[in-house]
Amino acid sequence: MAWILEKEFTFEAAHKLPFHDGKCTRLHGHSYRMTVYVESDRLIESGPKQGMVMDYGDISAMVKPFVDEYLDHWYLNDSTGLENPTSEELARWIFERLRSLGLPLHSVKVCETCTSSAVFCGEPKKKDDKH
Ligand SMILES: [Zn+2]
Repeated sequence: MAWILEKEFTFEAAHKLPFHDGKCTRLHGHSYRMTVYVESDRLIESGPKQGMVMDYGDISAMVKPFVDEYLDHWYLNDSTGLENPTSEELARWIFERLRSLGLPLHSVKVCETCTSSAVFCGEPKKKDDKH
């Protein structure tokens, strides 16, 4: 049993998919939407954040600088180092980076368009895992 918080971020970025068999091999851009899902099986018990998994503002404080540094108004093939930055690859790359920053992530969703998105889910945390 757990809570999952959702927090959405947007960024504009360019990319190309060199192995695609169609127009995605050409340099083009998207207005990306990305949702981070933060998971916890307990709530903060006291203080100003009582009753929260995490303050939404604290999620933004961790994710926004990351978006600015690697995603927003960047050429993703360069800024991420991904040779073929599909939304699937981006979701995994973002998940791994944000989790290494200490965000207790459940998953990351990357939407290339209003109707197309990919979700990457990490390994479920084990009950005895102290990390
Ligand atoms: Zn594209």
